[in-house]
Amino acid sequence: MLNFPSKLPQQGITIFSQMSALAQQLNALNLSQGFPDFPAPTALIEHLAEATRAGFNQYAAGDGWLALREQVAQLFQQRDGITLDPIHEITITPGATIGLYASIQALIRAGDEVIIFDPSYDSYAPAVQLAEGKSIHIPLLAPDFKVDWQRVAEQISERTRMIIVNTPHNPTGTIWGKQDWLNLIALIQDKNIVVLSDEVYEHLIFDGQRHYSALSFPELRDRSIVVGSFGKTFHVTGWKTGYCAASPMLMKLFRQVYQFANFCGVTPCQVALTHYMQQHPEHIQQLSNFYQSKRDQFITGLQQSAFRFTPAQGTYFQTVDYQDIRPDLNDIEMCQFLAEQHKIVAIPISVFYQQTPQNLRMLRFCFAKTEQTLTHACEILADV
Ligand code: PMP
Ligand code: GLN
Repeated sequence: MLNFPSKLPQQGITIFSQMSALAQQLNALNLSQGFPDFPAPTALIEHLAEATRAGFNQYAAGDGWLALREQVAQLFQQRDGITLDPIHEITITPGATIGLYASIQALIRAGDEVIIFDPSYDSYAPAVQLAEGKSIHIPLLAPDFKVDWQRVAEQISERTRMIIVNTPHNPTGTIWGKQDWLNLIALIQDKNIVVLSDEVYEHLIFDGQRHYSALSFPELRDRSIVVGSFGKTFHVTGWKTGYCAASPMLMKLFRQVYQFANFCGVTPCQVALTHYMQQHPEHIQQLSNFYQSKRDQFITGLQQSAFRFTPAQGTYFQTVDYQDIRPDLNDIEMCQFLAEQHKIVAIPISVFYQQTPQNLRMLRFCFAKTEQTLTHACEILADV
């Protein structure tokens, strides 16, 4: 007698779970799902052990460990010269995903439209669907994946309530420059539209470029929710600890929903991250160089291969074009081929599009890997 139609009927298992499982099954090198294969900093691990021994094992404050919120505020102050009130404007969440999800549930109602740039991170559209909103997908086209602002202007309607931005961008590794933000501001500043800005790769930015946070623009200061992730910054994706930052008005709306989605983040992880950030400010200062050298090792290796690419400007992902290798295979088939024949696993880009552009022949590799793993990966790819 049970009758429960799926709320997400089109949805299979995420591509990240699929590809990591494929790598395991074939004992192949896993450059698909984004996570480091090297250890987290020893001092951070020690702080976690200490925090659990010291008894930080019960619920944290729902809004997060205040000292950690203060660390986040300090980073915004140093980088963007903006003052965030850690009490009313920052919440620590168990990962960025729940921050994105709760933001969408808090602000989107049935029939509201949300603009999403494709290729887009896989959690955005389902969260909009569960809020009974409508995702309006605007494609970013290879090779540069720039926003077509004319098209954005055309797609904004009376029903548009949110635009989801992701910079540095997963999966393409591109970043938004100041002009992109100015274009966005011009289109929305007199409208009832918020920006949900996924900035989880904010500290991974290369070639001397800089990250512009949505909150750093006065015009967006009161109409943006920024989502961040300590997992990416401190090599601990499994700790699932992130943050949300927004004006008191938006933060209040966010917390009203978030408190029932998760209540609070993991206490000892928050304490450990706080102590580590207080004692090791150099970690973040050196992070771009740390990852830039990994990117450089990877792309130097790729130069010996038949893959074409534009170097990633940020994130720990490099996209490659395999048009010159197997144009007959679509990207999912190409991933299968690489996994089976060459024992290396990537992520197909088409899965991040609502409508795949014709002849898209691109894959994403994660270069958050040891020197040894990257050397091995480059050897494999040079042979493909
Ligand atoms: N947004 C983007 C663009 C991501 O790549 C990720 C990585 N998982 C997330 C959000 C989610 O981060 P978290 O693991 O902290 O939930
Ligand atoms: N963000 C990670 C990626 O893009 C994966 C996170 C997940 O597995 N959901 O690879």
